Amino acid sequence: MRYYVLDRGDQLSAELAEQFHQLAAQRHFVIDAVSPEIVISIGGDGTMLHAFHTFVNHIPNIAFVGVHTGHLGFYSDWKSDELAQLIELMSHDFISAENTARIVKYPLLELTIHKKSGTTTHVALNEFTLKGVYGTLVAQIDINQASFEMFRGDGICVSTPSGSTAYNKSLGGAMVHPSIEAIQIAEIASINNRVYRTMGAPLLLPKHHECNIYPNQDQRLLITIDHIVLPVDDLISVSCKVSEQKISFARYRPYPFWDRVKSAFLR
Ligand code: NAP
Repeated sequence: MRYYVLDRGDQLSAELAEQFHQLAAQRHFVIDAVSPEIVISIGGDGTMLHAFHTFVNHIPNIAFVGVHTGHLGFYSDWKSDELAQLIELMSHDFISAENTARIVKYPLLELTIHKKSGTTTHVALNEFTLKGVYGTLVAQIDINQASFEMFRGDGICVSTPSGSTAYNKSLGGAMVHPSIEAIQIAEIASINNRVYRTMGAPLLLPKHHECNIYPNQDQRLLITIDHIVLPVDDLISVSCKVSEQKISFARYRPYPFWDRVKSAFLR
């Protein structure tokens, strides 16, 4: 098995990464930083975001596994004292090809960013946000090429189902089960009064629907893609839709999404 480990960089995560390498060597797993079959993220959900973006160009060929060094997370199933058990299950899969791992696939968000300086395409695991730097973001929002609203406010957040429990939740967005192929648009502090009006509620767009955001020109803006922050001052538009790609997680034991939600937010 070809694998790679990314850790959060704190002492516990680094020690666990070392421990993982030792256990993996005993099972004849091979470290592969270029085209691993399995990527192990050791840290938190934020570490999984880094792991995802490190291998973003190889997503169809990789299955991710998360080990949490704090509390169990949305992208991490394994606790720090369970490494030996995880390796045992991975090894069993590898030797017997019995596929004890269930591959669970989560939808991603595809973004096309058009700037005066060029066009780029990105994928997000959690979300994309567009915010004003010095003041109100003013942007025309179209859905499926039809004018929907003129937005004024701090910004706009477009999230994936698995990202719906992150920034989107803080904005009052709905938590969406990752089996639903959709993206969610949530407002960040929109201005609503007698003059300006936005929908004022989160919108869920299904696959094959598209949202296009056209900011007024000459605004200094900030784009975030998960943990990545990109200042822009020549943005023309951003198109958002459900990506054709999905992220794969290797699940060696069940941990249902609603159990994660309950354990993260209720107890
Ligand atoms: P961070 O500011 O260091 O941490 C953000 C927090 O969000 C961490 O507690 C992280 O969990 C958690 N998180 C990440 N993905 C999640 C998910 N899918 N569901 C539930 N919680 C999640 O930033 P970071 O670690 O680089 O992560 C970037 C993310 O922060 C962004 O994608 C955005 O979703 C989130 N964020 C949230 C807000 C907000 O809620 N107001 C504002 C900005 C950014 P771990 O502790 O397990 O890593």
